[in-house]
Amino acid sequence: MAKVIPIRPAAITSRDRKAIPEGLWLKCPSCKETTFARELNRHAKVCPHCRYHYPLTAMERVAQLGDDGSAACRHEMPGWVCGTITLDRIACVIVVADHERPELAPSPSELDALGDIYAAAVEESLPVLVCWSEAPEAVGETDLDQRARARALREARRHSEAGLASVLLVTESDGGEAIPQHLPRTDVTVVESSRPETVLDDVRYADLAASRFDVAPLVRRLLAFARD
Ligand SMILES: [Zn+2]
Repeated sequence: MAKVIPIRPAAITSRDRKAIPEGLWLKCPSCKETTFARELNRHAKVCPHCRYHYPLTAMERVAQLGDDGSAACRHEMPGWVCGTITLDRIACVIVVADHERPELAPSPSELDALGDIYAAAVEESLPVLVCWSEAPEAVGETDLDQRARARALREARRHSEAGLASVLLVTESDGGEAIPQHLPRTDVTVVESSRPETVLDDVRYADLAASRFDVAPLVRRLLAFARD
C-alpha cells in the first residue's frame, strides 16, 4: 500500500500551479467579456456572463469535490493526482486527470496507478471516483499500453465484483466523445458541462450531466445511494 500523505487545504492552494492571481482581469474565451479574477475564483472559475467553465487543475478539482481538509494524496504526477477524500463524510478513493496532462492517452504509469487505485479500493472496501478531462480527439487502441490497461481493467472488475460503486466524472467536456472507451467501465458516468441541459444529446456515453455548481452534490448523492 502506498504511503498516505495528508494534504492540508492550504497546501492545495499553494501547490496549485494555475491559480489565477487575484488582481487580474480575464477575458472569457467563450463570450469575450472580462471578469475580475477574484470574482472568478469565488465562483468556482465559472464565467458569470455565459457560464463558460474555466479548466480546473487536479488539485482544484479535489478541493471542489471533497469535504474541507479530507484529502489525502497517494500519487501525484503532472496533471494527475490520486488519493482518498470524503464527500459528505462518505469516504472514497479519487483519481483526477486534468487538462494539463502531457499525454492524450493514459500513459503506462497512469494505467498502472489506476490499477493500484482499484486494488487499494477493494482492500479498503471504498467506492472509486474517477475524474478525467475530456480529450480533444479519440484515443486509439494502439496508443495504449495493453499490459497496463489489462491490469487496470482486471482490478476494476474485481472492484465491481466486490459490490463497490464507481463513478466516472468527465470534466472540461465540450460535447466530444474522446474519453470513456479507454477507461474501465463505471456504474455511472456524469459529465460536467456549462450546458448540462443539452450536452447529453452529444455525449452519448454519459448517463447524467450537471454544471460545475451542481456536480459535487450530484456525486455525493450517487455515492450515498450506492452505499445505502
Ligand atoms: Zn463568458
